[in-house]
Amino acid sequence: VIVTLKPHVTEKQYGDFMSRLRDMKLRFYEIDDLHSRSVSIVCGISGLDTDMIRAMEIVEDVKRIDEPYKAANRKCHPADTVVEIPVAGSDPVKIGGGHFCMIAGPCSVESEGQIIGIAEKLKTLGARILRGGVFKLRSSPYSFQGLGTEGIGFLLKAKAQTGLPVVTEIADISQLPEFEKIDVIQVGTRNMQNFLLLKELGKLQKPVLLKRGASSTIDEWLMAADYILSGGNGNVILCERGIRTFETATRNTLDIAAVPVVKDFSHLPVIVDPSHATGYAKYVESMSLASVAAGAHGLIIEVHDNPEAALSDGQQSITPGEFAVLSKKAEILRKAKVLADSDVTGGIQNGF
Ligand code: PEP
Ligand code: MN
Repeated sequence: VIVTLKPHVTEKQYGDFMSRLRDMKLRFYEIDDLHSRSVSIVCGISGLDTDMIRAMEIVEDVKRIDEPYKAANRKCHPADTVVEIPVAGSDPVKIGGGHFCMIAGPCSVESEGQIIGIAEKLKTLGARILRGGVFKLRSSPYSFQGLGTEGIGFLLKAKAQTGLPVVTEIADISQLPEFEKIDVIQVGTRNMQNFLLLKELGKLQKPVLLKRGASSTIDEWLMAADYILSGGNGNVILCERGIRTFETATRNTLDIAAVPVVKDFSHLPVIVDPSHATGYAKYVESMSLASVAAGAHGLIIEVHDNPEAALSDGQQSITPGEFAVLSKKAEILRKAKVLADSDVTGGIQNGF
């Protein structure tokens, strides 16, 4: 619910109100509003006595949030969430708000040499986070299933050697202890509605990259995010990775409109995975640039030194050389977009 307080509430009254909410063990956000002080209280409606809140002396109005997702809802939290990923000895990597982040790496970690070699290249080409799957959830049981625990070790060696934070997918709650040194936990499309897993991740403070289910609506995706947020973990990054449609020319259909829609509905950062969305290396650059133009807070791209020999998703993996070009173009486009968004007339006068 959104609670609007009466004008001219004193600091003391406000403080007392906040303590009562805390005593009731309610999750709430203070909404900074120039005209009225508002507070959003996030909880299942069954957990809240709205009449009791309404009856409080300083409360002017209590409005229910109609959408099924609450904590992810921009109405509850008007400012953009910026997720920070700590980096030893340097500034954190930020995703969300005005911060854009490039994530890159192979679909799967294949060997120690492979992941370290590619990480070193990607670091010099603009990647800020290294990706690499180790617990692979493949559509076929006969496909490469990932290196598992050994792969986590290789990924962490690449992190130690390059300083790049790492993201990898969790397949099951039982693997959680292995993710202690992993910087961002990825929940893949097949697990977006694994509610028990989402609840466990809600108990952590570690950033979670929540991919959209291949057949999920935006409402369902944001409700999945609520499972993590309502547990107390506010560090959720959403990732549009294409959805299942009648179209077969591409592996999935990139729902590019999901970017502005999610930014409208939610305060959470939203990035795009053009690799899984299209399924073909040759379409990755154009869809990356389209995502930047649409306002995505980042990209996650599959890169392999020798895509033809990749153990998974070679067809959609680009080479480090192609990534270098894509990364440069994305940076140029992003600068143009920031300029255009901030000052259209100035941008036009400056030659854009
Ligand atoms: C991946 O990023 O490696 C992956 C399997 O993606 P998705 O869950 O989107 O299919
Ligand atoms: Mn893949």
